[in-house]
Amino acid sequence: MLYLDANATRPMEPGAAEALCRALSELPGNPHSPHQLGRKAAAAVEDARERVAALVGRPARQVRFTSGATEANAWALQGLRRAAVERGGGPARVLCSAVEHPSVLCQADERLPVDARGVIELDAVEQALDRPGVAVLSVMAANNETGVLQPLPELARLCRERGIPFHCDASQLPGRLDCADLPADLLTLSAHKLGGPKGCGALIGARLPPPLLCGGPQERGDRAGTVAVPLVHSFGVATTLCRPLEDELQRQLEAAAKELGATVLGEGAPRLPNTSALLFDQPGDLIVMALDLEGVCASTGAACASGAAEESHVLRAMGLRGLPVRLSWQRETPVLEVLPVLEAVLERLRSA
Ligand code: PMP
Repeated sequence: MLYLDANATRPMEPGAAEALCRALSELPGNPHSPHQLGRKAAAAVEDARERVAALVGRPARQVRFTSGATEANAWALQGLRRAAVERGGGPARVLCSAVEHPSVLCQADERLPVDARGVIELDAVEQALDRPGVAVLSVMAANNETGVLQPLPELARLCRERGIPFHCDASQLPGRLDCADLPADLLTLSAHKLGGPKGCGALIGARLPPPLLCGGPQERGDRAGTVAVPLVHSFGVATTLCRPLEDELQRQLEAAAKELGATVLGEGAPRLPNTSALLFDQPGDLIVMALDLEGVCASTGAACASGAAEESHVLRAMGLRGLPVRLSWQRETPVLEVLPVLEAVLERLRSA
C-alpha cells in the first residue's frame, strides 16, 4: 500500500506509538492527584509541554493541551471574540482567510480573499483590519488542501501595528517545514498531523484567551478536564521525532504529473514540500477511487469533504472549479511510485 494522505492524518511515528502504548499502562495516574502516580503523570505532561514548546521555539509556560486543532481554534477565536466584546461593549468580529479549515471558518464573521494561487490578499487584509471592531485575524500557516503557505510575517506586522491579536492555525507545518519562529500571538497545533495520536493538540501563546471549557483547574485554570496523559505524552515524543522534508521529490512528482496533463494548484506560491494538489481532465473523486483499488490512498482534498466529493471552498476561493487529487506524504514515502499507477488510471478513465 502507498499512503499519500498525510495531510488528513499520518500514521504515527513508531516511537510515538510505542510511547502511547507504554503510557496507557505505565502512567495511570491523574496529574492533579497528590500521590506518586499523580506526580509521575504530571511530570510526563510537563515533559511533553517542554517538547511541544521547543518545536515552535516558545517557553513551555505558553503551551496548553487540547483535544486537537479544532478545539484550539474554537478556544482561540471564541475566547478572543468574548474578550473584545467585554472590553469594547459592542460586537466584535472574527476575520479569517477564505481558505481556512472549516474549524476556523465556522467561527468567523468575514472571509478575506485569496489570489488565484491561494495566497491571502494583503490589501484586503489591511482594509478589513482598519474597520472598527476586529477581535482577531486568523490565518493558517499552510493550507491542508493545496499546501500553499501564507505570508505570516506581513500578517503579523499588520495586526501588531493595529494592536489586533493574530491567530495562526499551524497544524500542517510540523513534520513538513521548520516552525521554530512563527510570528503569531496564538498558535494552534494538532498531534496527528505530525506523527502523534489523534485527539490531541495545543493552543500556544503568551496571553491566552479566556477558557472555552470551564470547570476544574487543569492546564493552569485555562482548560478544564483531566489531561489525556497518554496522548499528550505521545504528542511530546512525536514532536521530537518529526523532521522537515526536502522538496526534491515534489519537484519530480509534479514535473511528471504535468506530463500526464495535471495543473498543480498553488503553483508559483510558496508551498509545503509534501503536498501536491493536481487537477486533471478527469474528476478527482473517480481518480481517487481508482487509485484506492490499486492500493494507493489519496484524497480529493479535505478528508471531511472527500466522502461527499463536494467542490472545495479552497478551490472556489482561488477562482477554480473541479475536484483535484491531493497527494500528501511524509519523509521516506516513496511518492514517485504513484506515477505509473496514476498514468494507468488516467488512461483507463480517458478511454472509458
Ligand atoms: N486545521 C487544519 C489546517 C487541519 O488540516 C485540520 C485537520 N484536517 C484541523 C485544523 C483539525 O484538526 P483536529 O483533527 O486535530 O481537530
